[in-house]
Amino acid sequence: MRSQPSVLHLDLDAFFASVEQRDKPSLRGKPVIVGGVGARGVVSTASYEARVFGVHSAMPGHEARRRCPHAAFLSGRFDAYRVASRQVMTVLRDLSPLVEPLSLDEAFVDLAAARRPVDLSVPGLERLIGELKAEVAAVTGGLTASIGVGSSKFIAKVATELGKPDGHHIVPAGGEVALLSPMSARVIPGVGPVTGEKLRRIGVETVADLQRIALDDLVQVIGRAHGTGLKALAFAEDDRAVEPEREAKSISVEDTFDRDLVDLAELATIVDRDAHQVAARLTAARLLARTVTIKIRLHGFVTHTRSRTLTGGTDRAALISRIATDLLGEVDLTPGVRLVGVGVAGLTDVLQEDLFSTDDPEAVAAEPEVADDVPADGPVAVDPDPAAGADADRPAVTEHRAARSAGWPPGADVEHDVHGRGWVWGAGRGRVTVRFETADTPPGPVRTFADDDPALRRV
Ligand SMILES: [Mg+2]
Repeated sequence: MRSQPSVLHLDLDAFFASVEQRDKPSLRGKPVIVGGVGARGVVSTASYEARVFGVHSAMPGHEARRRCPHAAFLSGRFDAYRVASRQVMTVLRDLSPLVEPLSLDEAFVDLAAARRPVDLSVPGLERLIGELKAEVAAVTGGLTASIGVGSSKFIAKVATELGKPDGHHIVPAGGEVALLSPMSARVIPGVGPVTGEKLRRIGVETVADLQRIALDDLVQVIGRAHGTGLKALAFAEDDRAVEPEREAKSISVEDTFDRDLVDLAELATIVDRDAHQVAARLTAARLLARTVTIKIRLHGFVTHTRSRTLTGGTDRAALISRIATDLLGEVDLTPGVRLVGVGVAGLTDVLQEDLFSTDDPEAVAAEPEVADDVPADGPVAVDPDPAAGADADRPAVTEHRAARSAGWPPGADVEHDVHGRGWVWGAGRGRVTVRFETADTPPGPVRTFADDDPALRRV
């Protein structure tokens, strides 16, 4: 445990939606929902204006549309988010070399390792936070962040929650337990809905309850490792280091045999079982994988690896198994197999993947054998006729299969030879509607074109 609040956690507010509002002046102050565009898609980020209607991350798109039908539903512009993320991470790395990104919009910073002396008193930290927020706004063109500072990662992250949105919270050393005690036990990492319910059944609702309960009683319900971990966190005992580049790059399961296996059916059964284990670990980590790899060591220790990359991420056991089994068939197994392994790489966050999966039809064509992993559901396009909408300020959403394949996802950046830069307001029925505005213009006009108009192109 640190004796000073030297772990800082920064989280950009409604990040993807804020980038969209920054670049689309007509959407500022309005409900914006990024993701949830496809029929099976989930919401990646809702702007605070949309959250008022109960829309939140990971909500199915159809549910978000029911709660907030007048929102602008956008498919997301990952490149723009990545650029803004990099700008913010650079600001943080200028402060300290120990920056641990948790996602594009969130990171821990170890202030104890800062490049310049940092005053860790409350007034000193207030000053630092003010400077950081101003720098973040300056480099990103106006994005806001919430910041928490505490003596551990856990406390810093809890503090950030208290500061949201666009605020901050500092937990002085020694104040941790008092802060946590009245909070729901769900505030502790590792207490999700399932564990939360198990705890509730033994009378544990708050962190204070968790502090009081005997460790043995806790262990009975949730196991030794988990129980011990939660007990420590309830007392704010968290000495995890801020580690740059902490993220998992791959997941794999291997089996070594004490005899040479030659039977393809037997090997396929093992591969299938390994694939299911890999998929379960992906699901548990809320990750999706784009690359499936098989590793085969033959009698005599020659090792072969084969891999295939998907057009969209997956955590589906059946698909991973099928690809791994296909790859198994590409290796001559006649010498006998001593080891077989199934692995996945190219991992992305479940919520980020929703953005990837809305674009790039060409990538599907390049790998037809795995194209069925790309959601087969059609996209939801935007009504192409602004006059038909009750409110011309926002895209009216209608179901239509053509828009994504036509390459005009809602929200995408475009340029017109005559009208200049804008974004796709909606597409369908052979037409595309564009709002001509950028981050640096006032809200702009909407115009409709044929979707094969040679004067109009994606940027
Ligand atoms: Mg955020």
